[in-house]
Amino acid sequence: MNERGSVAAGETPLAAVLIRRIAATGPISVRAYMEICLSDPEHGYYRTQPAIGAAADFITAPEISQIFGELLGLWSAVVWQQMGAPSPFRLVEIGPGRGTMMADALRAAQRVPGFADAVRVILVEPSPVLQTAQRRKLEATTAQVEWVEDMARVAPGPTVLLANEFFDAIPMTQLIRCEDGWRERMVALDQAAALSFAVDRSLWRGALPEAAATASTGSVLELRDLSGLSQTLQRMADGGPLAALFIDYGHEATGFGDTLQAVRRHRSESVLASPGAADLTAMVDFEAAERCFASDRIAVEPLSTQAEFLGALGIAERASRLMTANPSRAGEIEAAVARLMSPHGMGTRFKVLGVRSSQVPGLPGFARR
Ligand code: SAH
Repeated sequence: MNERGSVAAGETPLAAVLIRRIAATGPISVRAYMEICLSDPEHGYYRTQPAIGAAADFITAPEISQIFGELLGLWSAVVWQQMGAPSPFRLVEIGPGRGTMMADALRAAQRVPGFADAVRVILVEPSPVLQTAQRRKLEATTAQVEWVEDMARVAPGPTVLLANEFFDAIPMTQLIRCEDGWRERMVALDQAAALSFAVDRSLWRGALPEAAATASTGSVLELRDLSGLSQTLQRMADGGPLAALFIDYGHEATGFGDTLQAVRRHRSESVLASPGAADLTAMVDFEAAERCFASDRIAVEPLSTQAEFLGALGIAERASRLMTANPSRAGEIEAAVARLMSPHGMGTRFKVLGVRSSQVPGLPGFARR
């Protein structure tokens, strides 16, 4: 925005909306900023951008290799068998992006006898743009597919649930340890009326994890509210066998640090630079997620890295079969698998959280305690 109050070239339409709103009613929390940037019905990132894929802003595991979705499909079929092969049962995916993972998963799982007849697919996706992309991707499938906007709308019943890179898109609160206590990090306006970070005027009165007690001044703590999802999981576990996989990049244990990042066209940029036009994500605190989900109804598997998990599901065998069947693509397949498994990249940065209702046996692919 320039001195006359008009929006400068390069600023996004959402930047103008936010600047006007903050000027009128005061700073907003980082959580509200993230929520608006990602999900504003008119200008939100997931509502307007094709977002995911080699040509877009970032690439995800299912877009790197078909093997990713295929292995998760086979995993789902094995878990369904462990549940006693209920028919019908629901295969639910939260945040399916372009629908690639579900298409690959169904293609592989439908070869398991009885699976195709039993499966009902539910895709949880609030973005109409992405729903359309998913519809297109799944046109050829024979499975019954239904879309809902919110996980809370999924009725109880036998369920296998998958989510890749869904947690990291859930808006989170950032707290900063100040001399006198924790304060929420806010988005305000600087003297030039541009978006800038600030801290809340009052101290944070919400709950804090135990680790917060050891923080030094200046530490940043990120809190993601998964209680709504947890309630849904508990309710589902009451209504039938439930098994769920959440794959995301994040930490095993609660720690300190600012991990909020903006990515636009495969480059990271300032979080405040282009609201609505860049993807905003933050690392997942898996310890917090585990604590939130575990109950007498829900058991949590020991956290696994993506490399350990895909390795246990037989990624090497599947890759070599695919390479034999497609010799001209062997190099490409090998490179894609190496990327998913990379010890300094996706293979270890991404973790797999498995949860199940207590009546379901231990899930495949996880180390036994
Ligand atoms: N799983 C996909 C896409 C990851 S991007 C992949 O791996 O390629 C995050 C996805 O979560 C998008 O589809 C986005 O629209 C969706 N999403 C964001 N907020 C959501 C919410 N509250 N409920 C369900 N999906 C959501």
